[in-house]
Amino acid sequence: MPSKPALSDLNFIVIPLLSTSHLIPLTDMAKLLAQHGVTVTLVTTPLNAARFTASIDRAVRSGLLIRVVELQFRAKEAGLPEGCENQNAAPGLNYRRQFVAAINMLQEPTEKLLREMKPKPSCIISDAYVAWTAETADKFQIPRIVFDGMSCFTQMCMHSLYIMRDQNQLPESGPFVIPDLPDRIEITKAQLPGHFNPGAISIQDIRDKIRAAEERSFGFVINTFEELEQRYVDKFRKLKNGRVWCLGPLSLCNNDDLDKAQRGNKASFDKDDNLKKWLDSWQPESVVYACFGSLGRITVKQFVELALGLEGSGYPFILVIKTGEGQAPIEDWISKNGFEERTKARGLLIRGWAPQVLILSHPAIGGFLTHCGWNSTVEGISAGVPMITWPLFAEQFLNERFLVHVLKMAAGVGSQALVHLGEEEKFEVQVSNKVVTDAIKKVMDKEKEGNEMRKRAQQLGEMAKRAVEGDGSTHLNVTLLIKEIQEFQLKQSAKNSCAKVCDALF
Ligand code: UDP
Repeated sequence: MPSKPALSDLNFIVIPLLSTSHLIPLTDMAKLLAQHGVTVTLVTTPLNAARFTASIDRAVRSGLLIRVVELQFRAKEAGLPEGCENQNAAPGLNYRRQFVAAINMLQEPTEKLLREMKPKPSCIISDAYVAWTAETADKFQIPRIVFDGMSCFTQMCMHSLYIMRDQNQLPESGPFVIPDLPDRIEITKAQLPGHFNPGAISIQDIRDKIRAAEERSFGFVINTFEELEQRYVDKFRKLKNGRVWCLGPLSLCNNDDLDKAQRGNKASFDKDDNLKKWLDSWQPESVVYACFGSLGRITVKQFVELALGLEGSGYPFILVIKTGEGQAPIEDWISKNGFEERTKARGLLIRGWAPQVLILSHPAIGGFLTHCGWNSTVEGISAGVPMITWPLFAEQFLNERFLVHVLKMAAGVGSQALVHLGEEEKFEVQVSNKVVTDAIKKVMDKEKEGNEMRKRAQQLGEMAKRAVEGDGSTHLNVTLLIKEIQEFQLKQSAKNSCAKVCDALF
């Protein structure tokens, strides 16, 4: 009979969506799995690989069995501009379908690669949005484990929302309570993710394929930790026959400052030293860090309210400003109104990419104004920092509900409706500078509610750190996942050798 495969003979194939906020957690996950002794192969394209090379090289030098394989991305053939290998670089949402077409073209070369790979692939950890990996996993008779970047809380919300939608029970207007959840979560249709509240460009057919592939997957890996949302983890696990592994907070697998500073992209601050000096010059828990993730954009009118709101709060702040297409009006306003000059004694503008995890881990940070992307949400929780929530798109309103109503470690700015990506101009100013200032003060205030939020945030931050330690829940989840794959492989080999014997006999 075949014997149990050694850890290093298990080869976990990690296939992220080519989008910055999916590449970041899946690269962390690749490192985390390799830290547990298995071989990990990360499949991506040259320009995306370049963002992670330094950090992966460090991991390899430290003895981890991790490698990156690069496949040519046929951008032009799919109708995308040459060199457009990342969804964040696609010029507008009209290119979404072409992007999916280019991703689909990766199936054939990936399968060719897997056929020749040593050690043989043991499972695919696939981004939910790369749906063809379901077919690939079937061909190779290996498990496909899905990562879709959401929490168990959101998974359970989505589950209930799908049932409501299929029964035509989603109210068109007014708030309603999402059924069958451990907490009372109220929301409006306008705040729901695009699955239930589509934008101008419908991608329902693509979503349906993704969902169908997800439904028949072997299991799910989630960037969360058990203690953060135990009731929701239990519910989701029950729904998925026990095959849910909580591997987060993934950002905590980056132990050295260089890995934190270079995570996801090259930081655009001139020198990390200067950033550190700036942060060191402030009292503990006094600075507000404001960032809308890798994709979130706001109009110049809404930016003005954000900037004035930060200024009006009186707290020192770091404000991350996107660069590139469409940002000129914002830069115009900043210079014409002398905003940067006027606030330079206590405001720092970072244009481009901020080393977010490094910033959040600095003791001077006292509040995080976030668009509630799940990565940013977990990173804020891990850093023990209370948050000011300003959800924009996707499932961000659900993440906000989780932070404000379940964890009670955040205050919202009261945005009312989803601002679909690429459709920002269609939406009026939703949030005034006064509301931004009030929400910041509420969170930063050391006396009243703010104090309670801070205490809860700090407790959760401690719990997050404990989860990734040697005897923590995340450590246990990684071990259990690896064991599950080891057993699957053993059973598969037994089945194959049995089939060979049968063939020989008959
Ligand atoms: N991020 C960063 N620096 C930036 C902007 C974003 O490091 O200037 C990282 C952030 O730490 C997080 C990811 O990009 O890991 C954003 O993911 P999230 O899910 O929060 O939002 P999305 O980009 O999907 O809207």
